[in-house]
Amino acid sequence: MSDSSIPAYADTRKIFLQEANISGNLDLDRLPRFRKTLANDQGSVSLELKFTLSDAKERLISGSLRAKVNVFCQRCLKPLAIALADDIKLALVRDEEAAQRLDAELDPWICEDHKLDLAELVEEQLILCTPIVSYHESGDCISQKDYVAGEDATESVTSESPFAVLRSLKDSDASN
Ligand SMILES: [Zn+2]
Repeated sequence: MSDSSIPAYADTRKIFLQEANISGNLDLDRLPRFRKTLANDQGSVSLELKFTLSDAKERLISGSLRAKVNVFCQRCLKPLAIALADDIKLALVRDEEAAQRLDAELDPWICEDHKLDLAELVEEQLILCTPIVSYHESGDCISQKDYVAGEDATESVTSESPFAVLRSLKDSDASN
């Protein structure tokens, strides 16, 4: 897989005026923060970004991300292949103040100088669209359950639903 088509930086003084399109694949080793959330470095990330100026001269970044990666199943802790897809609609702004003036439907992406770090932008969006917890389809963790114990493993595992986890988080918050 080659990612030579995605430059490290885009020049924000040019890309919007030129209505540039940037598309291609990014290797996971260019996305170190996202990579840390994954079970291994097997996978692919592809992106399509379009840079335009709105009528109000907002600098818009739109497009889509697609990724096939492996996360840890939270039931059996083995790798689980997931597909991520995300639509991007961001407005490039210089600082927090400008971010607050944006329309509600636009999410700000703050870039203080002229160098837009493309991998960082992609990485952040991928992290945001990755589910907090993922599980194999029901039944697909069986080999691991057999390994763990035998008869009662199923019951103890299913009681750890994401809702139970959330509840216990809330309870510990309340007790603080
Ligand atoms: Zn599993």
